[in-house]
Amino acid sequence: MATEQIVQAVNAWDVAQQQFDLAAEHLHLSSGLRKVLREPKRELTVHFPVKMDDGSVEVFTGYRVQHNLSRGPAKGGIRYHQNVTLDEVKALAMWMTWKCAVVGIPFGGGKGGVIVDPKKLSLREVEGLTRRFATELSILIGPDKDIPAPDVNTNSQTMAWIMDTYSMHVGYTAPAVVTGKPIPLGGSEGRNEATAQGAVYTIQSAAQHLGIDVPKCRVAVQGFGNAGAIAAQLMHALGCKIVAVSDSTGGIYKAEGFDPSSVLAWKKEHYSVVGFPGTREISNAELLECDCDILIPAALESQITVRNAGRIQARLIAEAANGPTTPEADDILYRDGKFVIPDILCNAGGVTVSYFEWVQDLERDFWDVEQVNAKLHRVMNKAFASTLDMCLKQQVNMRTAAYLVAVQRVADAASVRGIYP
Ligand code: NAD
Repeated sequence: MATEQIVQAVNAWDVAQQQFDLAAEHLHLSSGLRKVLREPKRELTVHFPVKMDDGSVEVFTGYRVQHNLSRGPAKGGIRYHQNVTLDEVKALAMWMTWKCAVVGIPFGGGKGGVIVDPKKLSLREVEGLTRRFATELSILIGPDKDIPAPDVNTNSQTMAWIMDTYSMHVGYTAPAVVTGKPIPLGGSEGRNEATAQGAVYTIQSAAQHLGIDVPKCRVAVQGFGNAGAIAAQLMHALGCKIVAVSDSTGGIYKAEGFDPSSVLAWKKEHYSVVGFPGTREISNAELLECDCDILIPAALESQITVRNAGRIQARLIAEAANGPTTPEADDILYRDGKFVIPDILCNAGGVTVSYFEWVQDLERDFWDVEQVNAKLHRVMNKAFASTLDMCLKQQVNMRTAAYLVAVQRVADAASVRGIYP
């Protein structure tokens, strides 16, 4: 409940613009360029009908935002959540622009969302909603224009429906219109694990810089979905103690640690991590402040705020989620000597392997998981090194450093293209 209230109190778009303004100021960007990069290029709002199982008709609202396309087609996930707003989607699209730039992949930023709690719909209703939403988006999406991917409450099945719907419209099979697809449809090996794997690579780099011994660390993970559950499993495989995890229903804690794979099996059966044998129930707010060395927020925005930042005990915070920390909280964490791996760097493994998937689809040539992970490792290490280098040279926190790297790359692309006509 507490986290839900905080989510509503902080506007993600205000946060995204504040973060951009800070970077623009540091980079002395011209006022024209600031005006261009501060706003999204396109925002589409659609209200569309879906036939429900009982024969009634419901109308849903969805959005697709393209923030900046200077470096390539729009790339970004589609989220299904009851709290989705246009401002949230705008923020997520802007963060995608910087994320693609910080890892150096040739995409611009996009994001989509539908206001819906998919857990209240049948599978057939979710399919109907997805196919109609994909149809509404067909004026924007395409392999060279805008390429969606999974995000909160969407997955490879959602992407398969979007790919099929788009392919039916154009009259041929177009795998490269979405990423995060099932492997038999042209999905990439390693994509399902990519966000978490990329986050773990950045944690290893940060630990090396800070002189932290990863296998000795106690880890807490907020959010136990694609990003969080796999991050917990990968950290456990490295020898860490997973002491706390949570989902939308609450959290669990055990100082001696537990096996996240067993928690995942428990969640599949009970639809919650809560109640896992041998653990104590904690709230999502308590999880963030628990006694641990590494904290991995992997749920929603605005979880670490001015209200709790001063009580966070972890030395290293790895933002697998998008936008979990507000700018005021960033200042407190920096003051307290916490090392934050910012979202646009930490969770960029997802979009990086999405890029690999898109390349494989376009070339009709598929790589094995070792190739994918080796390439991902190189990209993440390089992005981490450029960000750390900027952080040390400019004496700024890691988020501002990542923004300086990313915004400069986008600004260079936008400037050299010039203003049409
Ligand atoms: P998901 O739907 O697979 O999992 C989300 C998890 O968060 C679920 O366990 C859910 O129960 C939990 N959750 C929801 N509301 C919560 C709350 N108020 N408190 C605590 N937990 C809550 O989604 P995901 O794909 O893992 O995405 C999680 C975060 O990672 C999001 O911020 C997303 O934008 C970001 N992200 C995901 C990817 C990706 O490839 N999936 C890539 C980059 C960033």
